[in-house]
Amino acid sequence: MQAGFFVKKGGCLDNMMISKRLKTIADYVPPGSRLADIGSDHALLPVFLLTRQICTFAIAGEVVDGPLQAAKQQIARAGLSKQIEARKGDGLAVIAGEEIDVVTIAGMGGSLIRSILENGNHLLRGVRMLVLQPNVGEETVRQWLHEHDWYLTDETILEEDGRIYEILVAERLDGARTESERLYAGNRLALNAGANEWNFRMGPWLLWRAEPLLSKKWQAELQKWQTVYRQLEQSQSAEAALRRAEVGQQMRELEEILRCLQTDKR
Ligand code: SAM
Repeated sequence: MQAGFFVKKGGCLDNMMISKRLKTIADYVPPGSRLADIGSDHALLPVFLLTRQICTFAIAGEVVDGPLQAAKQQIARAGLSKQIEARKGDGLAVIAGEEIDVVTIAGMGGSLIRSILENGNHLLRGVRMLVLQPNVGEETVRQWLHEHDWYLTDETILEEDGRIYEILVAERLDGARTESERLYAGNRLALNAGANEWNFRMGPWLLWRAEPLLSKKWQAELQKWQTVYRQLEQSQSAEAALRRAEVGQQMRELEEILRCLQTDKR
């Protein structure tokens, strides 16, 4: 669904609109960037950023022919064929040398984003910023960033059309590992257990800001776990008992965090 951000083109308003989710990602891209948008589909993000003259050059990377053709058409329609190249390739393989300084990867699962980063890690040499929007599995993306010395500089959570999205921004910083360890070890909520683990799951900045949408998202997760717990109660097996104990422990920790978030709301 398009949320109403018009692209200004040649002095008049073009009728292209991008979603609130893509607009929030776009807002993180610094002026003058050379961008690779991986899994670009219709190339809406690079077209928006080039039309706004925020980027000077962009690659719209796609691994599937259909979306690649859609990207080419969108770029041609916007008159941006000289500034945006639609390239076919798997993940970061569309980047050559150090031509790119910002990479966006949005609208995929966290595991896929992680594998794209892992497989193309050597192609990130010139890149100074990653803006990532996993649809699910944010934890695995945070873990990868931490393990590969990318410092998580910011996070945003937003809701659009009844879905909650998280956007993770990471940059290369001197001493990233130490800073990152400090970030994830932070126990501002005075948790009895598992601060590190919950920071990776829920997002250290989102927790720090006690984001109301974070509570909403995890309240829904808690309800799912409660259902699982009730189902496990029906079974007499030793495995079910073990699993019930694990789920119960996780639920108690999450309930404690949600209580802290309630009282910390600012
Ligand atoms: N990034 C856009 C967005 O956020 O609106 C499009 C998201 S769309 C759901 C995911 C796109 O990623 C699809 O067009 C798919 O073909 C592409 N894709 C999936 N795996 C990919 C990979 N390994 N390399 C490049 N593109 C990939």
